[in-house]
Amino acid sequence: MTAKWLEQFSGYHRVKRTPQCPGSVVRVRGLAIGGGDLVVMAGPCSVESERQLIETAEAVALAGARVLRGGAFKPRSSPYSFQGLGLEGLKFLAKARSLTGLAIVTEVMSETDVDLVAEYADIMQVGSRNMEHFSLLARLGKCGRPVLLKRGMVATIDDLLRSAECIAAHGNSDILLCERGIRTFDTVTRNTFDVTAVPVLKAATHLPVIVDPSHAAGVRDLVPILARAGVVVGADGLLVEVHPDPAKALSDGEQSLTFQQFEAMMHDLERYVPMESNLQHLTSIGRERRA
Ligand code: PEP
Ligand code: MN
Repeated sequence: MTAKWLEQFSGYHRVKRTPQCPGSVVRVRGLAIGGGDLVVMAGPCSVESERQLIETAEAVALAGARVLRGGAFKPRSSPYSFQGLGLEGLKFLAKARSLTGLAIVTEVMSETDVDLVAEYADIMQVGSRNMEHFSLLARLGKCGRPVLLKRGMVATIDDLLRSAECIAAHGNSDILLCERGIRTFDTVTRNTFDVTAVPVLKAATHLPVIVDPSHAAGVRDLVPILARAGVVVGADGLLVEVHPDPAKALSDGEQSLTFQQFEAMMHDLERYVPMESNLQHLTSIGRERRA
């Protein structure tokens, strides 16, 4: 990228990429996100029950995921939809972590929940609808946990960087940027995956970039190919929805992969990116299983 083009990011003092800070690594539970290996985060859209979560955690860990996702506090478009299990869901996430060794990423929706969620989560997820909830972002600057910041569905790259800078300015530079698709005039898919955002964010900032192909596509058959596209253009990690029985999911079933589809996706990705540490993890889980 030319120096002139990069000048547009000069105001983002804390998150912009510089020769002194070309790329930062976010460390969580022995994982290095942004360190060269692809880190896959997978699990259900919502935590629905202990059994659903633990079955999913074991399946995704065996397939090579390193982080378990699952919403306990859910931002739903309708007040009549399932709103999440709240504290009970956080407790199931902690149990799944202790059984599988997976780190936990889960959404925090409100400033008043930050301390509670930080007690259970390894990574605090800010959802698309909250990307510009500046008082929440400020509070996350002091939460002591890495933050996964999702791009707002109608946010420009500049808007996303402004929100990241806000978290950093309040004291927390452990930020993962997440491209999850944006709204466009096209309604064939749930959102439009902005594949360009990945190399642009990598050029503009030192922060690791995560791609969420599930919310970008909205339909499960497109998820593996968008995941592949994301890693080929340089994503440091993926956030993927997986469910034991997607047809019965309480949220986002249409875009959730089955266990078999997730495993097939992981095999496909091995051809494109280094996932050595994932495979070592898989081997150790396999050993425990056999013992
Ligand atoms: C989610 O990850 O389940 C979610 C609600 O995502 P987004 O905020 O990107 O819509
Ligand atoms: Mn979802």
